[in-house]
Amino acid sequence: MGRLVVVSNRIADPRKTAAGGLAVALAEVLNSTGGLWFGWSGKVVDSTDADDVHFQQAGPVKLATVDLTQVDHDDFYLGYSNGVLWPVFHYRLDLADFDAGYIAGYRRVNQLFARKLMPLLKPDDIIWVHDYHLIPLAAELRALGCEQRIGFFLHIPLPPPLLLAAIPGHDWLIRALFAYDLLGFQSQGDLDHFGRYVETEAHAQPVEPGRWRAFGRTVQAGAFPIGIDVEEFTQLTAAPDAVEMYERMKNEYSRRKLLVGVDRLDYSKGLPQRMRAFREFLERNPELRSSATLIQIASPSREDVTAYTDLLHELESLCGSINGNFGELDWMPVRYIHRTVARARLPGLYRASRVALVTPLRDGMNLVAKEYLTAQDPEDPGVLVLSRFAGAAEQLKEALLVNPYDREGTAAAIGLALQMPLDERRSRHGAMMKTIKRFDVHWWCDTYLEALRQAQAEEKGTSWLRL
Ligand code: UDP
Repeated sequence: MGRLVVVSNRIADPRKTAAGGLAVALAEVLNSTGGLWFGWSGKVVDSTDADDVHFQQAGPVKLATVDLTQVDHDDFYLGYSNGVLWPVFHYRLDLADFDAGYIAGYRRVNQLFARKLMPLLKPDDIIWVHDYHLIPLAAELRALGCEQRIGFFLHIPLPPPLLLAAIPGHDWLIRALFAYDLLGFQSQGDLDHFGRYVETEAHAQPVEPGRWRAFGRTVQAGAFPIGIDVEEFTQLTAAPDAVEMYERMKNEYSRRKLLVGVDRLDYSKGLPQRMRAFREFLERNPELRSSATLIQIASPSREDVTAYTDLLHELESLCGSINGNFGELDWMPVRYIHRTVARARLPGLYRASRVALVTPLRDGMNLVAKEYLTAQDPEDPGVLVLSRFAGAAEQLKEALLVNPYDREGTAAAIGLALQMPLDERRSRHGAMMKTIKRFDVHWWCDTYLEALRQAQAEEKGTSWLRL
């Protein structure tokens, strides 16, 4: 195989385990092909300094980064990527900020990435672009003459056509996807939305299942649900940091069953709805009250965006009122922690918890669900309460599936989870672990890259419809 070139908004040093499963999986392929990882450095600089590409060698992998100017960062990152695409792709039209200026900044940064990446490419490279920040990157590379194989993977959900069409410039955005050779989505549902959009809005011709022709190009698309590195996470669970965390939790909460939630503080994660469901559970089950404690980790995220500060206040006030109304001298129902917990310690917290509440309103996949199950003791496993609106619900059918908007239904599922008999816990856990092990992050990486290699090459000389 040719050299792998990964492009993503942020890059991770693949030598550091804190980087997580995705970086580990990509690092394996990057290492074996002496690959290149290209992205934003995370730095915002004066415009005069923004032109350089910074290189760093991480073993056999070359890391290449560019800085952004303040205005590019504001328009591309905060504005279009996180102020328009993130909310709309998560079905939250009400939170989107359709400022017309942002789309120009989004395109400008994609052009900058293309201009800086192009001279670094070799003829037989395979390029893999990640996520919603970089949708038009292939089109910009093609405009500069790039003929290499290029694939795209969308880590977040793709909404139905009607919602997509709410984005000013949606036709431009989707047209840009036809510059790729392979599009990867997290779930069959996302893939269906793509097919329906391109057939109805772009009059694309279905060539065969998973292949569409429009704008003079043919694109292939498929569902490639991302997994975790089960082996790495199992080792992490047995390592001292996680074991120490497990023991601390078991001692501290020896008389209680723990429920755990671990999320970035993001409106897509359904945290206020989860708290209301937990309050409902406490109201309805006075006899179970003081035997259950919910630990909610909400790791800080995008705090410079208003929707996030509003959420922070709402969550603090909900947790405060639950503890005020139901707490006793020796028991607080909710422990809310607005901090990031180190990845190495999380498996201990997961393993000590009888129930995980993974109830996003919408989520591309949700890796916490898979990590929680992997960290369990198979002889005495905990129970996963999972939103049917998480991509993971397509795979983890043996979870207790809930509609996170349905407070009473979710409260009832919490009660069932806390009281589920051992046999049932074991059989559900065993079935889900089979799926998690089979479709792990290595499966995801290998299957995607094999499909990209196999994707029929576009006929030479096809003119690319310019953006
Ligand atoms: N995570 C972490 N510490 C925290 C919160 C989350 O290390 O305090 C990790 C978690 O283990 C998982 C990832 O962040 O690997 C979150 O991934 P997920 O797909 O669940 O949600 P995302 O944040 O990507 O929307």
